[in-house]
Amino acid sequence: MSLNAPAPDLPPLREIIQRFDLGARKALGQNFLLDLNLTRRIAREAAPLEDTNVIEIGPGPGGLTRALLLEGAHHVTAIERDTRCLAALAELAQAFPGRLTLVEGDALEIDPASLVPGPRKIIANLPYNVATPLLLKWLGKIADYESLTLMFQKEVAQRLAAKPRDSAYGRLSIIAQWLCEVKMAFDIPPQAFVPAPKVISTVVRFTPRTAPIAPCRQEDLERTTAAAFGQRRKMLRQSLKSLGGDTAALIAEAGVDPTARAEELSIEQFCALARLIPHSA
Ligand code: SAM
Repeated sequence: MSLNAPAPDLPPLREIIQRFDLGARKALGQNFLLDLNLTRRIAREAAPLEDTNVIEIGPGPGGLTRALLLEGAHHVTAIERDTRCLAALAELAQAFPGRLTLVEGDALEIDPASLVPGPRKIIANLPYNVATPLLLKWLGKIADYESLTLMFQKEVAQRLAAKPRDSAYGRLSIIAQWLCEVKMAFDIPPQAFVPAPKVISTVVRFTPRTAPIAPCRQEDLERTTAAAFGQRRKMLRQSLKSLGGDTAALIAEAGVDPTARAEELSIEQFCALARLIPHSA
């Protein structure tokens, strides 16, 4: 079928869930999004989809998957851990011949970039229990992707997009924004899901920067922010002592106020500290 062919007549998602007995499993973070208006809105947020290899994590019964295909994704590779969903998804693959590849497995164990050539985009309604570890894994190889469009609990989305002096500003804000422009796109209310989670969800789009905001090694930035935010109410001259070495000299050389607290520092200032922290021999 060409991209211009009429949309195939697909059964409603509720029927798919019933027919394939896809009762939601909490351990797999399963909250299914059945409203095609919302799934198509997520797909449009990630647009354009025509000239890129789309990778979806956790397609479940396939609501977002069909939205991606209907919104013109040239090809979708979907990684799913729950074998029950794969039979349901096989029908969807038949309805869109040659445009959907299913991969059974744990996304934490798979490097998505090894599955398809670039350019690539990851688009997913992530299982909340593994959303942050998955994001950190992809950020570690962010040059492999054109963008990531992902749904998180709103509280996590706020941490990802927070600016200095926001109460949500922390390690996650710094590592994400050091590498990417982070945009909180829109919220999705709990009642849009089956079953309804307790919290509001937010779709976040990450667009990799051509270069990180300021130079430093990622592991040094992570060590620095871990020390600073590990004691976020303390002044830096105290909280950075856990890094070892001469803390006062480190802070002076980085040009940072020793009485400032972690939440007041910009990402550039954290990078300046990270470039100077001591390394064990
Ligand atoms: N995309 C579907 C939707 O929007 O309705 C389902 C989203 S649901 C929040 C998360 C999905 O991720 C589930 O289908 C679940 O089985 C799958 N999943 C959970 N852990 C996974 C993992 N480690 N690797 C791959 N898929 C996983």
